[in-house]
Amino acid sequence: MSRRDEIAANLATVQGRIADACAGAGRDPAEVSLVVVTKFFAASDVRLLADLGVTDVGENRHQEAEAKAAECADLGLRWHFIGGLQSNKAAAVAHYADVVESLDRVKLVGPLDRGADARDHEVEVLLQVSLDPPGAEHRSGADPADLAALADAVVASDRLRLRGLMAVAPLGEDPAAAFARLVEVQGQLRTQHPDATWLSAGMSGDLEQAVTAGATHVRIGSAVLGTRPRFK
Ligand SMILES: *Cc1c(COP(=O)(O)O)cnc(C)c1O
Repeated sequence: MSRRDEIAANLATVQGRIADACAGAGRDPAEVSLVVVTKFFAASDVRLLADLGVTDVGENRHQEAEAKAAECADLGLRWHFIGGLQSNKAAAVAHYADVVESLDRVKLVGPLDRGADARDHEVEVLLQVSLDPPGAEHRSGADPADLAALADAVVASDRLRLRGLMAVAPLGEDPAAAFARLVEVQGQLRTQHPDATWLSAGMSGDLEQAVTAGATHVRIGSAVLGTRPRFK
């Protein structure tokens, strides 16, 4: 089986899973965008994905993302940055990212905004919210209590557009319960920012629970591209 055939078959399976989850939840599959997470995979795979109709790809490491986005600039893809952001790299991320899903602290807003301005484009922003219990290890994402201030900072920027929230379900917990908390947090955010309608939730292992909860974007890596290579 060629790499193209393998990816095409996996894509069909994932699209079927999304469609089934939508049917079960009474949702229109057109409401759910598929972001294929291409981290660790070669630019040649990104090309195959674009050829197979994928429009949105996600990356989580700046150096790798920057290189791949440059190599694939002719494909017209939307690049989502979904990884941990460092303040000294944030401006550079905004040069190629169309969507930054992992904004989790006010300190990053200035550099992201300057980076977007330098390339004369707008960057769509999701606030990453932590669904971990307070004090848990490997916590990534903002504390729900800090989201209001973060949202206000994005709205006050010139080039960043607040679109909604992103979260990763904590390990060892029923993802449905975690996504239910996420939906509650989104409801609170939307009392002040009614247009923040995007909800990026769901990965290869829990996309059904995310779609059922109301995800508008699912971030799928291994179910489309296979097990990630250990080293690039
Ligand atoms: C890697 C990654 C994904 C994709 O994970 P899979 O389990 O391979 O689908 C989704 N979201 C984030 C934030 C990631 O880092």
